[in-house]
Amino acid sequence: MDPAPAPDRRDEDGPTEAGTLDCLIIGAGPGGLTAATYLARFLRRIAVVDGGSSRARWIPESHNCPGFPFGVAGPALLRKLRDQAEAYGAPITQGRIVELRRAGDIFTACDADGRCWHARNVVLATGIVDRLPRLEGGDATLEAAIAAGAMRLCAVCDGFEASDDRLAVIAPVDDAIRHAVFLRTFSRRVDAIPERDAQPSAECAALARSAHVTVRPVASQLQYADGACTVTFADGARQQYDSVYPVLGCTAQSQLAATLGARLDENRELIVDDRQQTSIAGLYAIGDVVSALNQISVAVGHAAIAATAIHNRLPPNFREDPDSQPDGVQDLVAAKDATARMA
Ligand SMILES: Cc1cc2nc3c(=O)[nH]c(=O)nc-3n(C[C@H](O)[C@H](O)[C@H](O)COP(=O)(O)OP(=O)(O)OC[C@H]3O[C@@H](n4cnc5c(N)ncnc54)[C@H](O)[C@@H]3O)c2cc1C
Repeated sequence: MDPAPAPDRRDEDGPTEAGTLDCLIIGAGPGGLTAATYLARFLRRIAVVDGGSSRARWIPESHNCPGFPFGVAGPALLRKLRDQAEAYGAPITQGRIVELRRAGDIFTACDADGRCWHARNVVLATGIVDRLPRLEGGDATLEAAIAAGAMRLCAVCDGFEASDDRLAVIAPVDDAIRHAVFLRTFSRRVDAIPERDAQPSAECAALARSAHVTVRPVASQLQYADGACTVTFADGARQQYDSVYPVLGCTAQSQLAATLGARLDENRELIVDDRQQTSIAGLYAIGDVVSALNQISVAVGHAAIAATAIHNRLPPNFREDPDSQPDGVQDLVAAKDATARMA
């Protein structure tokens, strides 16, 4: 089933009624894929366009993802979420949206190849891009260190898995101390390593003392081998850590919304209302790109809220009106009925 109108070319005429989606979802991480499942199950005409770099692909194994008591690897979770969305007919296209504009109530989004989608609503599920430290050996070594848990990017996600390990946080000095104190729940041995030479504030220095966090000199080299990271400090000393947490900030993928004038916080993450709508009517944002906690469960919760709000905002798509529902939906529903009868 292809429930959505195909994209047209940038140089073609503007949107037609028939060629306009109920919703375009930009990004197919946990947030975007969950929104796709919900909206497809609401029998809406949707499309998903995705750049293929979900943060979840880095997750060696998540143990705080609801419903997976024995853990789930990020790529396996993405596969399941994609299978679920596609089972309800959500079309997912590989591509990177580079332009988003609005004329009246209709959004037009175009990708780098000049394909354009028109939609009454847009869900931005574009996530963030982490700023990572320079590791000897480059990207391949970085990936190996993340896969081994020797470099961890989310203390809320996997602090538990780092229990009793020798840990370090690399960040601007006050952030390094605060994150190190957070990690003291899990380990007695946590160092704060300033990203660059700077003195901590009096408050953070006191925090470090009271939490028994050692503030080390700046790192001059970071290496990974055999499941551990080794830091060489500016004073020549070396220390091996089971896990290093870099907290160096990120780039929120909010540019498309920013060009439309959507409200952003100081980290350029999107500010939304209680239905996940940005300050632009019809433009919703979910997951990491939103000013909120960066977690899978948060992204899928955002998705449920946004998708339901969008369905309720759209004109009704009553069952007896085939034009208001995606092509092929009859076959899909019949197939589901048949499967249910067989079960
Ligand atoms: C190493 C690591 C471990 C983690 N462990 C956990 C964990 O155990 N538990 C947990 O809850 N969370 C964990 N997280 C966080 C989790 O991965 C994120 O919270 C989650 O992936 C956010 O989902 P999202 O859908 O908002 O964004 P993402 O998953 O990042 O997906 C965004 C998608 O949008 C696409 N995109 C961006 N811009 C465009 C564009 N212009 N056009 C088209 N597509 C675009 C990207 O290519 C990407 O595919 C971890 C993260 C990392 C890095």
